[in-house]
Amino acid sequence: MSSQDKPVALVTGAGQGIGRGIALRLAEDGFALAINDVVADPANVKQGAYEVKAAIAAKGWVAEVFRADVSSAPERAAMIEAVAAKFGRIDLLVNNAGVAPKERRDILEAGEESFERLMSINLRGPYFLTQLVANRMIAWKREGKVPSPRVAFITSISAYTSSPARGEYCVSKAGLSMAAKLYADRLAEFGIPVIEIQPGIIMTPMTSVVKEKYDKMIEGGLLPIKRWGQPEDVAKAISAFAQGYLDYSTGQCIEVGGGFGLRRL
Ligand code: NAD
Repeated sequence: MSSQDKPVALVTGAGQGIGRGIALRLAEDGFALAINDVVADPANVKQGAYEVKAAIAAKGWVAEVFRADVSSAPERAAMIEAVAAKFGRIDLLVNNAGVAPKERRDILEAGEESFERLMSINLRGPYFLTQLVANRMIAWKREGKVPSPRVAFITSISAYTSSPARGEYCVSKAGLSMAAKLYADRLAEFGIPVIEIQPGIIMTPMTSVVKEKYDKMIEGGLLPIKRWGQPEDVAKAISAFAQGYLDYSTGQCIEVGGGFGLRRL
């Protein structure tokens, strides 16, 4: 099977953490991987995007790195051109790239700079990247090149959970949650299912700085399933979606959070 025969998955922010887990899982599922990250050093195959590429290539599967900052319109456009030139198709877009505030600041004091940064990376980036990719998918589907295009958004339990010390993160994820619904609605007539995945507390470099805090909260009973989530937990949900098992559930949200969202008495 040549790389062009395989379905292609573009995963943003796939150089580490949840995106890395998703990329590895999708490669195993038979996808050729377009690995995006804003950090991508070809000389570094020990960590980051090129490590993920090497790990996939080592199994004989197909992967290429496409460095781009999802918050930059020209970089998004150049990336999609490059992926189209390399693979000629995108069957699955996983909007995973996202950032936490550099420092947690109370909503009564936090400034606009961090708000702008999070909106542009966590919301504006995936919102307009999806617009770009969806238009390509519609055309590719018409041409018979991509039979089953799909789009996934990685939001967060923060889309509905208040953390007043990082309000800008919560607002960015709540906005992205609506973006998933909007695209699900608009793309249904083109046969493009859209799903939202809300990870809970997942062990990645992003959460390593708050590990002790969350260790204690999990031990104290925060989650019905008393353990950290792993990138593989999120990757399994994406895998089910990628294989078409959730196609009649467009616009729905799946929480991967160990039962965090359950109301309990
Ligand atoms: P992470 O920080 O470990 O990895 C994120 C990756 O995205 C990094 O490789 C980073 O370089 C890349 N990235 C950052 N800004 C980018 C940009 N502008 N363009 C392209 N790539 C960029 O984070 P993670 O924990 O793996 O989180 C992945 C996604 O899951 C994020 O959207 C995050 O908000 C979300 N999430 C994480 C958790 C968790 O507990 N870890 C929980 C809920 C949601």
